[in-house]
Amino acid sequence: MLTDADMYFSYDYHLNDSGKSFYTEAIRQDRVSQLPPEIVMHVDQCNRCRKEVEVLSKEDDLNDKD
Ligand SMILES: [Zn+2]
Repeated sequence: MLTDADMYFSYDYHLNDSGKSFYTEAIRQDRVSQLPPEIVMHVDQCNRCRKEVEVLSKEDDLNDKD
């Protein structure tokens, strides 16, 4: 059965693109504590996802490229 959090994880049990942008958005809105606990716990414990989210949140501070 799929939970809300499952749609934010990829087949290799890391955050997928949706999960990363979801988390990044939560950081910017200071709402990380309201995310599904599965996501918060994973980013807390996973260096790879935490770094990707950090990079994304910094990139999002810049003006849109292109
Ligand atoms: Zn991960």
